[in-house]
Amino acid sequence: MIKLPEQAVIVLNELEKNGYEAYLVGGFVRDLILSRETHDIDCATNALPDEIERVFSNFKQSQIGKDHGTIGVKIKHDWIEITTYRFDDETKDHRRPKSVTYAPSLKEDVIRRDFTINALAINQKGEIIDYVNGQEDIKQRIIRCVGNPEYRFYEDALRILRGIRFACQLNFEIERNTLEAMHKQSYLLNALAVERVYQEFKLMLESDSIYPYFNNTKDILSVFIPEILDLDSQLLMKIDQCNSWLKRFSLFFIHQNEEKIRIRANHLKMPKKLIKDSVDFYYCYNHEYNDQEIDIKRMMQVYPRTIILEAMELKKIIDPEHYSEKSYQLLLKMIQDNVVVSIKDLNINGHDLLNMNIKGKAIQETLNACLEAVMLNKVENTKEALIQWVNLT
Ligand code: ATP
Ligand code: MG
Repeated sequence: MIKLPEQAVIVLNELEKNGYEAYLVGGFVRDLILSRETHDIDCATNALPDEIERVFSNFKQSQIGKDHGTIGVKIKHDWIEITTYRFDDETKDHRRPKSVTYAPSLKEDVIRRDFTINALAINQKGEIIDYVNGQEDIKQRIIRCVGNPEYRFYEDALRILRGIRFACQLNFEIERNTLEAMHKQSYLLNALAVERVYQEFKLMLESDSIYPYFNNTKDILSVFIPEILDLDSQLLMKIDQCNSWLKRFSLFFIHQNEEKIRIRANHLKMPKKLIKDSVDFYYCYNHEYNDQEIDIKRMMQVYPRTIILEAMELKKIIDPEHYSEKSYQLLLKMIQDNVVVSIKDLNINGHDLLNMNIKGKAIQETLNACLEAVMLNKVENTKEALIQWVNLT
């Protein structure tokens, strides 16, 4: 028998005590069975939203989802979403249901869900209720639509991306008919809000093993990231060796150019910081490092050091012939030593120069010269050494 977390037991108990049915449902049950860390707890019940509010009148509540039949209830430190059994009615724009109709029993609520592995319920005793053979699919590690996949994707095209994302995250295989329908219906992805697409794509890129899934669904992913079609399979194969989101995203653009990165990233409405990181990454990756300290210092003046590091690491993975271990070690050491690459790191400043009777424009010029001298190791970065150096030059 599966043991439920304490907050979950409280929710189920409160509802049952008041004469309602209550089950934990969806991803929470899937992750519990898979012993994965579970986050949001979802509960389904035959109580109507007003009744849920009444049952939990002594708890903090959130009404944000009330129109869709969901009341949030805070138990201990967790928000638990309690939703009245429902059907999802016809969708508009292949995404949001037009309206919500409450369903008479758990069964209807479960079979509206996307995949069998997400359509399990569990009661207070820890017994699993399985109308769709989801337990077997979890055991066999299979992503399979509940019902007719073509229809389910037509209803809501986001399910196509959720399916690929779950396969990547869980390392599950996508069942043949489900996969076929994904290919066939992929054009529907054009109708989705790009924010949702990006959210799923990001989760895919953050998964451990993505190559086999990306390789099998290139045509689908190309609807929103066409660059995948230009990517050599040898390169795509390396994607799982990349240990960060940035490396993985950058892999698609490494042989493109800044403009293409910007166009794609803006189209995906990526956060500004990630767009900048991706562009910086592109230049750091394509720079020819010559194993000279000063070359790396000049890069550090322009680009964040972590991005230079990451770019070098990607080079090692996908183009080892042009990777320089020496430059990489130099960079690591310079980061550790916190080397001087900007005027604000100098141990001399404008006041010191004023005291030396240097004035106006000459102050900035002298500071620039000091920086250059320190970066070239011509003078030590101490006040005495710098004053002496300025006096001599
Ligand atoms: P995650 O680990 O990302 O939270 P999840 O399966 O819990 O995965 P949620 O978006 O939290 O996903 O949704 C909770 C549950 O609601 C799902 O497990 C599934 O049963 C149902 N669900 C969510 N989105 C859809 C959808 N687009 N179509 C059908 N059912 C859905
Ligand atoms: Mg969830």
